[in-house]
Amino acid sequence: MPTSLSSTSKPPIQRVLLKLSGESFCQSGQSGLSVPEIVLIAEQIKRVVASGVQLAVVCGGGNILRGRDLDGFKQTILPATAHYMGMLATVINGLALLDTLESLGVPARLQSAIRMEGVAEPFIRRRCIRHLEKGRVVILAAGTGSPFVTTDTAAALRSREIDATLLIKATRVDGVYSSDPLKNPHAVKYSEISYQDVLRQNLGVMDAQAIHHCMEQNIPIVVLNYQKSGTIERAIAGERLGTRVSTVSELNTGNQPAS
Ligand code: UDP
Repeated sequence: MPTSLSSTSKPPIQRVLLKLSGESFCQSGQSGLSVPEIVLIAEQIKRVVASGVQLAVVCGGGNILRGRDLDGFKQTILPATAHYMGMLATVINGLALLDTLESLGVPARLQSAIRMEGVAEPFIRRRCIRHLEKGRVVILAAGTGSPFVTTDTAAALRSREIDATLLIKATRVDGVYSSDPLKNPHAVKYSEISYQDVLRQNLGVMDAQAIHHCMEQNIPIVVLNYQKSGTIERAIAGERLGTRVSTVSELNTGNQPAS
Protein backbone atom coordinates (compact mmCIF):
# COMPACT_ATOMS: atom_id res chain seq x y z
CA MET A 1 0.00 0.00 0.00
CA PRO A 2 1.48 3.41 -0.87
CA THR A 3 2.32 5.54 2.14
CA SER A 4 1.59 9.23 2.19
CA LEU A 5 4.13 11.75 3.38
CA SER A 6 3.21 13.63 6.51
CA SER A 7 4.91 16.42 8.39
CA THR A 8 6.33 13.80 10.76
CA SER A 9 7.98 11.85 7.93
CA LYS A 10 11.67 11.27 8.37
CA PRO A 11 13.91 12.85 5.75
CA PRO A 12 14.67 10.39 2.94
CA ILE A 13 17.73 8.23 3.41
CA GLN A 14 20.69 9.70 1.60
CA ARG A 15 22.76 7.39 -0.54
CA VAL A 16 26.09 8.94 -1.35
CA LEU A 17 28.91 7.80 -3.54
CA LEU A 18 32.32 9.03 -2.42
CA LYS A 19 35.07 9.03 -5.04
CA LEU A 20 38.48 8.84 -3.39
CA SER A 21 41.35 9.34 -5.77
CA GLY A 22 44.54 7.41 -5.24
CA GLU A 23 46.16 10.49 -3.70
CA SER A 24 43.89 10.07 -0.65
CA PHE A 25 45.79 6.88 0.15
CA CYS A 26 49.27 8.41 0.31
CA GLN A 27 51.01 11.50 1.60
CA SER A 28 50.95 14.66 -0.46
CA GLY A 29 53.34 14.50 -3.40
CA GLN A 30 54.22 10.88 -2.71
CA SER A 31 53.08 7.50 -3.97
CA GLY A 32 52.25 4.15 -2.39
CA LEU A 33 50.22 3.81 0.79
CA SER A 34 50.24 5.88 3.96
CA VAL A 35 48.28 4.20 6.73
CA PRO A 36 47.86 7.44 8.75
CA GLU A 37 46.29 9.11 5.69
CA ILE A 38 43.94 6.16 5.22
CA VAL A 39 42.96 6.31 8.89
CA LEU A 40 42.08 10.02 8.51
CA ILE A 41 39.71 9.35 5.65
CA ALA A 42 38.27 6.24 7.35
CA GLU A 43 37.48 8.31 10.43
CA GLN A 44 35.48 10.72 8.29
CA ILE A 45 33.68 7.81 6.66
CA LYS A 46 32.85 6.42 10.10
CA ARG A 47 31.17 9.68 11.11
CA VAL A 48 29.20 9.84 7.85
CA VAL A 49 27.85 6.32 8.25
CA ALA A 50 27.05 6.92 11.93
CA SER A 51 24.75 9.74 10.82
CA GLY A 52 22.60 7.26 8.89
CA VAL A 53 23.91 7.97 5.40
CA GLN A 54 24.35 5.02 3.04
CA LEU A 55 27.85 5.26 1.63
CA ALA A 56 29.58 3.59 -1.29
CA VAL A 57 33.22 4.43 -2.00
CA VAL A 58 34.97 4.19 -5.36
CA CYS A 59 38.74 4.02 -5.00
CA GLY A 60 41.22 5.41 -7.50
CA GLY A 61 44.64 3.94 -8.01
CA GLY A 62 46.88 6.79 -9.12
CA ASN A 63 49.04 6.52 -5.99
CA ILE A 64 50.23 3.16 -7.32
CA LEU A 65 49.74 3.10 -11.08
CA ARG A 66 47.71 4.70 -13.84
CA GLY A 67 47.54 2.95 -17.17
CA ARG A 68 48.94 5.98 -18.96
CA ASP A 69 52.07 5.88 -16.76
CA LEU A 70 53.24 3.05 -19.00
CA ASP A 71 52.48 4.82 -22.28
CA GLY A 72 56.20 5.05 -23.03
CA PHE A 73 56.53 1.26 -22.96
CA LYS A 74 53.73 0.30 -25.37
CA GLN A 75 56.00 -2.02 -27.32
CA THR A 76 56.52 -4.10 -24.19
CA ILE A 77 53.40 -3.67 -22.03
CA LEU A 78 50.23 -3.17 -24.05
CA PRO A 79 48.04 -0.20 -23.09
CA ALA A 80 45.11 -2.48 -22.21
CA THR A 81 47.35 -4.46 -19.86
CA ALA A 82 48.61 -1.25 -18.26
CA HIS A 83 45.02 -0.18 -17.58
CA TYR A 84 44.22 -3.56 -16.02
CA MET A 85 47.25 -3.02 -13.80
CA GLY A 86 45.77 0.37 -12.84
CA MET A 87 42.50 -1.33 -11.93
CA LEU A 88 44.35 -3.81 -9.75
CA ALA A 89 45.97 -0.84 -7.99
CA THR A 90 42.49 0.29 -6.96
CA VAL A 91 41.91 -3.12 -5.38
CA ILE A 92 45.05 -2.68 -3.26
CA ASN A 93 43.65 0.65 -2.04
CA GLY A 94 40.26 -0.94 -1.48
CA LEU A 95 41.73 -3.67 0.68
CA ALA A 96 43.64 -1.10 2.72
CA LEU A 97 40.47 0.93 3.26
CA LEU A 98 38.43 -2.18 4.09
CA ASP A 99 40.69 -3.27 6.93
CA THR A 100 41.11 0.29 8.19
CA LEU A 101 37.34 0.77 8.39
CA GLU A 102 36.91 -2.56 10.15
CA SER A 103 39.67 -1.67 12.62
CA LEU A 104 37.54 1.37 13.52
CA GLY A 105 34.47 -0.81 13.99
CA VAL A 106 32.79 0.22 10.72
CA PRO A 107 31.09 -2.67 8.89
CA ALA A 108 32.31 -2.70 5.29
CA ARG A 109 32.49 -4.87 2.20
CA LEU A 110 34.82 -4.79 -0.79
CA GLN A 111 33.34 -5.44 -4.23
CA SER A 112 35.48 -5.70 -7.33
CA ALA A 113 34.52 -5.17 -10.96
CA ILE A 114 37.16 -7.78 -11.86
CA ARG A 115 36.36 -11.12 -10.34
CA MET A 116 38.80 -12.18 -7.64
CA GLU A 117 36.80 -14.21 -5.15
CA GLY A 118 39.74 -14.74 -2.83
CA VAL A 119 39.92 -11.08 -1.87
CA ALA A 120 36.67 -9.36 -2.82
CA GLU A 121 33.05 -10.01 -3.64
CA PRO A 122 32.15 -9.47 -7.28
CA PHE A 123 30.30 -6.22 -7.94
CA ILE A 124 26.64 -7.15 -8.02
CA ARG A 125 24.36 -4.16 -8.06
CA ARG A 126 21.58 -5.68 -5.97
CA ARG A 127 23.99 -7.08 -3.42
CA CYS A 128 25.74 -3.74 -3.20
CA ILE A 129 22.45 -2.00 -2.47
CA ARG A 130 21.54 -4.63 0.12
CA HIS A 131 24.82 -3.99 1.97
CA LEU A 132 24.15 -0.25 1.87
CA GLU A 133 20.67 -0.77 3.28
CA LYS A 134 22.21 -2.72 6.12
CA GLY A 135 24.50 0.19 6.95
CA ARG A 136 27.67 -1.30 5.52
CA VAL A 137 30.13 0.82 3.62
CA VAL A 138 30.61 -0.73 0.20
CA ILE A 139 34.03 -0.15 -1.32
CA LEU A 140 33.92 -0.49 -5.08
CA ALA A 141 37.25 -1.41 -6.62
CA ALA A 142 38.64 -2.22 -10.07
CA GLY A 143 36.80 0.70 -11.64
CA THR A 144 34.41 -0.38 -14.37
CA GLY A 145 36.37 -3.58 -15.06
CA SER A 146 37.19 -2.29 -18.55
CA PRO A 147 40.38 -0.56 -19.67
CA PHE A 148 40.83 2.97 -21.06
CA VAL A 149 38.54 4.75 -18.65
CA THR A 150 39.09 6.26 -15.22
CA THR A 151 37.66 5.66 -11.81
CA ASP A 152 35.80 8.97 -12.18
CA THR A 153 33.74 7.32 -14.89
CA ALA A 154 33.34 4.27 -12.66
CA ALA A 155 32.13 6.54 -9.85
CA ALA A 156 29.54 8.20 -12.10
CA LEU A 157 28.36 4.86 -13.51
CA ARG A 158 28.02 3.28 -10.09
CA SER A 159 26.21 6.38 -8.83
CA ARG A 160 23.63 5.81 -11.54
CA GLU A 161 23.41 2.09 -10.85
CA ILE A 162 22.85 2.42 -7.13
CA ASP A 163 20.63 5.53 -7.40
CA ALA A 164 23.00 7.72 -5.45
CA THR A 165 21.59 11.08 -4.46
CA LEU A 166 25.00 12.74 -4.44
CA LEU A 167 28.47 12.07 -5.79
CA ILE A 168 31.32 13.56 -3.76
CA LYS A 169 34.69 13.88 -5.39
CA ALA A 170 37.19 14.19 -2.55
CA THR A 171 40.38 15.92 -3.61
CA ARG A 172 43.20 18.00 -2.19
CA VAL A 173 41.87 21.25 -3.66
CA ASP A 174 38.85 22.96 -2.23
CA GLY A 175 36.75 23.04 -5.37
CA VAL A 176 36.66 23.82 -9.07
CA TYR A 177 38.62 26.84 -10.30
CA SER A 178 38.37 28.80 -13.55
CA SER A 179 41.97 27.76 -14.20
CA ASP A 180 44.77 26.10 -12.25
CA PRO A 181 45.13 28.19 -9.07
CA LEU A 182 48.74 27.06 -8.69
CA LYS A 183 49.61 28.54 -12.08
CA ASN A 184 47.20 31.47 -12.28
CA PRO A 185 46.95 33.78 -9.24
CA HIS A 186 43.76 35.27 -10.74
CA ALA A 187 41.97 31.91 -10.88
CA VAL A 188 38.62 32.07 -9.13
CA LYS A 189 36.74 29.30 -7.41
CA TYR A 190 33.20 28.40 -8.44
CA SER A 191 30.83 27.73 -5.59
CA GLU A 192 28.47 26.17 -8.09
CA ILE A 193 28.53 25.49 -11.79
CA SER A 194 26.42 23.60 -14.30
CA TYR A 195 27.45 20.33 -15.92
CA GLN A 196 27.24 22.12 -19.26
CA ASP A 197 29.69 24.83 -18.21
CA VAL A 198 32.13 22.26 -16.84
CA LEU A 199 32.07 20.56 -20.24
CA ARG A 200 32.13 23.80 -22.25
CA GLN A 201 35.05 25.23 -20.30
CA ASN A 202 36.81 21.88 -20.16
CA LEU A 203 37.39 22.41 -16.43
CA GLY A 204 38.76 18.98 -15.71
CA VAL A 205 36.55 18.32 -12.69
CA MET A 206 36.04 14.75 -13.83
CA ASP A 207 36.33 13.34 -17.31
CA ALA A 208 33.59 14.19 -19.78
CA GLN A 209 32.06 10.71 -19.68
CA ALA A 210 31.60 10.99 -15.94
CA ILE A 211 29.99 14.42 -16.21
CA HIS A 212 27.63 13.14 -18.92
CA HIS A 213 26.50 10.23 -16.75
CA CYS A 214 25.74 12.52 -13.83
CA MET A 215 24.01 15.02 -16.08
CA GLU A 216 21.79 12.35 -17.63
CA GLN A 217 20.55 11.20 -14.23
CA ASN A 218 20.73 14.60 -12.57
CA ILE A 219 23.13 13.47 -9.85
CA PRO A 220 24.80 16.49 -8.25
CA ILE A 221 28.56 16.37 -7.80
CA VAL A 222 30.33 18.13 -4.94
CA VAL A 223 34.07 18.62 -5.34
CA LEU A 224 35.70 19.29 -2.00
CA ASN A 225 38.91 19.12 -0.02
CA TYR A 226 38.56 16.07 2.19
CA GLN A 227 41.60 17.08 4.21
CA LYS A 228 39.67 19.85 5.92
CA SER A 229 38.11 17.94 8.77
CA GLY A 230 34.39 17.34 8.53
CA THR A 231 33.94 18.55 4.95
CA ILE A 232 32.40 15.30 3.73
CA GLU A 233 29.77 15.23 6.49
CA ARG A 234 29.05 18.91 6.07
CA ALA A 235 28.57 18.59 2.33
CA ILE A 236 26.17 15.69 2.83
CA ALA A 237 24.26 17.73 5.40
CA GLY A 238 23.69 20.30 2.66
CA GLU A 239 26.24 22.92 3.66
CA ARG A 240 27.63 24.86 0.71
CA LEU A 241 31.30 24.13 0.49
CA GLY A 242 33.68 23.21 -2.27
CA THR A 243 32.00 23.37 -5.67
CA ARG A 244 28.61 21.93 -6.52
CA VAL A 245 28.08 20.80 -10.10
CA SER A 246 24.46 20.35 -11.10
CA THR A 247 21.85 21.34 -13.67
CA VAL A 248 21.49 24.97 -14.66
CA SER A 249 17.97 25.07 -13.24
CA GLU A 250 19.19 24.01 -9.79
CA LEU A 251 21.72 26.80 -9.58
CA ASN A 252 20.77 29.79 -7.52
CA THR A 253 23.30 32.31 -8.65
CA GLY A 254 24.12 31.27 -12.21
CA ASN A 255 27.62 30.37 -13.20
CA GLN A 256 29.49 33.18 -11.58
CA PRO A 257 32.78 32.28 -9.97
CA ALA A 258 32.77 32.72 -6.20
CA SER A 259 35.49 34.74 -4.57
N1 UDP B 1 41.24 2.10 -14.88
C1 UDP B 1 40.70 1.45 -15.98
N2 UDP B 1 39.35 1.27 -16.02
C2 UDP B 1 38.50 1.75 -15.07
C3 UDP B 1 39.07 2.46 -13.99
C4 UDP B 1 40.43 2.61 -13.91
O1 UDP B 1 41.40 1.03 -16.87
O2 UDP B 1 37.28 1.57 -15.17
C5 UDP B 1 42.69 2.19 -14.76
C6 UDP B 1 43.26 3.39 -15.53
O3 UDP B 1 44.50 3.01 -16.08
C7 UDP B 1 43.46 4.40 -14.41
C8 UDP B 1 43.87 3.52 -13.25
O4 UDP B 1 43.04 2.36 -13.41
O5 UDP B 1 44.46 5.34 -14.72
C9 UDP B 1 43.69 4.10 -11.89
O6 UDP B 1 42.50 4.83 -11.81
P1 UDP B 1 42.46 6.44 -11.82
O7 UDP B 1 43.51 6.99 -12.71
O8 UDP B 1 41.07 6.85 -12.11
O9 UDP B 1 42.82 6.76 -10.30
P2 UDP B 1 42.86 8.16 -9.55
O10 UDP B 1 43.27 9.23 -10.54
O11 UDP B 1 41.48 8.40 -9.06
O12 UDP B 1 43.83 7.97 -8.44
